[in-house]
Amino acid sequence: MKAAIFHGAHEPLTVEDVEIDKPMAHEVIVKTMASGVCHSDLHFVDGLYNMATPAILGHEVSGIVEEVGSQVSYVQPGDHVIGCLSVFCGHCERCLAGEPFLCRSPEVRRGPADPPKYTWNGSRVGQFANLGSYAEKMLVHENTLVKIGNDVPFEVAALIGCGVTTGVGAAMNTAEVKPGSTVAVFGAGGVGLAAIQGARIAGARQIIAVDVSESKLATAKELGATHIIDASDRDPVQAIRDMTGGGADYTFECIGLKKTAEQCFEAIRDGGLATIVGMIPVGTKIELDGPTFLRAKKIQGCSMGSNRFRTHMPQYIDLYQQGRLKLDEMVTRTGRLGDVNEAFRAMKAGEVARTVLKFD
Ligand SMILES: [Zn+2]
Ligand SMILES: [Zn+2]
Repeated sequence: MKAAIFHGAHEPLTVEDVEIDKPMAHEVIVKTMASGVCHSDLHFVDGLYNMATPAILGHEVSGIVEEVGSQVSYVQPGDHVIGCLSVFCGHCERCLAGEPFLCRSPEVRRGPADPPKYTWNGSRVGQFANLGSYAEKMLVHENTLVKIGNDVPFEVAALIGCGVTTGVGAAMNTAEVKPGSTVAVFGAGGVGLAAIQGARIAGARQIIAVDVSESKLATAKELGATHIIDASDRDPVQAIRDMTGGGADYTFECIGLKKTAEQCFEAIRDGGLATIVGMIPVGTKIELDGPTFLRAKKIQGCSMGSNRFRTHMPQYIDLYQQGRLKLDEMVTRTGRLGDVNEAFRAMKAGEVARTVLKFD
């Protein structure tokens, strides 16, 4: 099968012929149908995070089950599925506490000691986030998958696999935005647009989108932002304080930068809650003004929208099919596997919310 191989930071991916193993007892081969190009992949290409190479990146994916291992009971060949990087074991303390997105059980994860699943040029190929979706097929644990209806478009299903679940989930599950509240979202890329929509669905009365791109702010307005701030020509913290009368109830950082993470905390009201969703580069420290903690201001991290993906993703599909979660509007471009480097360039240039690679 063809796969786009990641060779190391700052190098282009190359499409190669890769051998894929047979599924073991709890594994599944999925024929990839659509894969979103998510900012998290770009962090590795840009060298802000590290991984062993060669490897197959990509983790925002939908497809069709092709083959299942002997113990797999959840899916069968022909099922349409979404893959999620929040693979869970189902019986550790975090899973049983209702936080399967924090499961770290080695039995369901890909590790250095596992037998190779993919080989290229005689060497083992790593698999990003237990998925590796820049490939025609994926060999995954069954607990990375959720079944979906055959009527859900694959591009939309792919987006739900990461960006939507992260952003909508950050608003609805991690921060639990309350009806009638005020919200500010920093960054109107794929995750930020999803957070804006999560806040809208949760019933926020004021949703302020902050970005430096006019076109992204226009999309934000279309998808539910009630106010926009172009941070290239004004201080977003002061603007949010002015618009909300002292600070937002909730803020979300959906970029992954020190400065915007700090602004997120500064822009909440006394007692407000800032949620950091973006991937802040390894080694970066965030600085906060100590005395403001006396005003009960809160800041928290967020992992994949606090998902229980086998229940949340079908809910997001319902919201999409009812027209309340707008996902077609978030697919800015489509391409083929060989367009992945161009998709990274366009994302870096701020030209797109999402490029989705199609495989049919
Ligand atoms: Zn992602
Ligand atoms: Zn677990």
